[in-house]
Amino acid sequence: MTNGPNWVIHPVLSTGPRLVHVNTTATGGGVAEMLHALVRGQVAQGLRAGWVVIAGSPQFFALTKQMHHLLHGRGVASLLRDPEQSRLYRAALESQARWLVDQLEPGDTVVLHDPQTLGLAPILSDSGIRAFWHCHIGTTDEAEDQVSEVWRFFHDDLFHLAGMFAPHPAFFPSVVPADRRHIALPAIDPSSPKNRYLSPPQVDDLLARLGLTAPAGDASSSLVIQDGYLPPEAGAIVQISRWDPLKDMAGVMRCFAQLRTDAHLILAGADPNEIPDDPEGREVFADVQLVRSALSAECRARTHLVALSMRDAELSALYINALQRRADIVVQKSLEEGFGLTVTEAMAKARAVVGSNVGGIPGQITSEINGILVDPTGSDEVVAVLARLLDDPTLRRSLGKRAAAVVAQRYLMSRLVSDYGKFVQAVMVQS
Ligand code: UDP
Repeated sequence: MTNGPNWVIHPVLSTGPRLVHVNTTATGGGVAEMLHALVRGQVAQGLRAGWVVIAGSPQFFALTKQMHHLLHGRGVASLLRDPEQSRLYRAALESQARWLVDQLEPGDTVVLHDPQTLGLAPILSDSGIRAFWHCHIGTTDEAEDQVSEVWRFFHDDLFHLAGMFAPHPAFFPSVVPADRRHIALPAIDPSSPKNRYLSPPQVDDLLARLGLTAPAGDASSSLVIQDGYLPPEAGAIVQISRWDPLKDMAGVMRCFAQLRTDAHLILAGADPNEIPDDPEGREVFADVQLVRSALSAECRARTHLVALSMRDAELSALYINALQRRADIVVQKSLEEGFGLTVTEAMAKARAVVGSNVGGIPGQITSEINGILVDPTGSDEVVAVLARLLDDPTLRRSLGKRAAAVVAQRYLMSRLVSDYGKFVQAVMVQS
């Protein structure tokens, strides 16, 4: 990433009211994943839609990562009271806001994603550019201290919003009026490299190419840490996540180590060196490697870690697709979760999903019907559910089949394009 804002796709150079999404990374994580498909869908609908990625220093992203944790009800609430943090945040955004104002015109609409970009709202709206905020994270627990500190920090910014999107009603701050709150549930593009159908031989080829089942066959520089290859017939439990403490990759491994099984565990996430707005990734990945190295030799031999290079976006999406299809069970043992797109992706592929009963996951999974919900802090429960599913292929199949039907009904990108259409395009037409 350069040290300034950049168009990622569809720079919307033509005239007429424009709709521009703004976030801080083009790859890695649910927001980037969704924006690729959403912007394409909006352009296909005839909208002048585009996407800008803004930049930040390591200090800026360290601060915004703390905001992320606070919105999830974790972390030290007093951090945001430090005036130096406020100066750092505003200084990082000011010149980028001016750049955006120069690119756009009064009457255009911008959708700011997550707290990294919310501070752009006042400068944009003072220039006649309508600003929406799409907040993908939050908590359904009582976390008054942490969350209210974030709302205090953003008090003025929130008043400049034309509207706000979130995946859960509990994620809205009280200062955003009810008629400006819009629920936007997650959505996937079933034809994208991440989700399109792959035949079993294609899955096998991709996993061999990645280096999971055979010597790596490409120069994509993804890293696979394992003592031996994943055997073709082995049962597979998979979690795919950013290396973030709230995804609890280490906790998944600890539960796996308690299972009496010959199944294998694969934990995969983007190479932490390639995700600029997620500065904790390296530390978490190092911690997960330490936990792995402390496993018994027998268990370690069945535990595989994958750091996926995102440099070839299509190939890394295909690898994730193949890993999800190879899984007998997909786990998402998050301690907090905004919406959990990895759950949607696995359900779309008719996998048996074990997901935490937190944030947006219970909105997707009806436990024992189309997946199984667990308390992520109760490792005995997680272990028991994994053991039950490993022993019961019929249950896995029936959960998976119903999961795929739910996604087809509720979580396709056409629905998200239309959710946006109802609110964002409606105000664009009025102006
Ligand atoms: N993802 C990815 N590469 C990775 C790990 C995750 O592309 O190495 C994708 C994953 O497939 C999903 C998104 O990032 O589309 C994660 O979204 P989710 O809502 O589950 O979590 P977030 O990262 O936004 O907290």
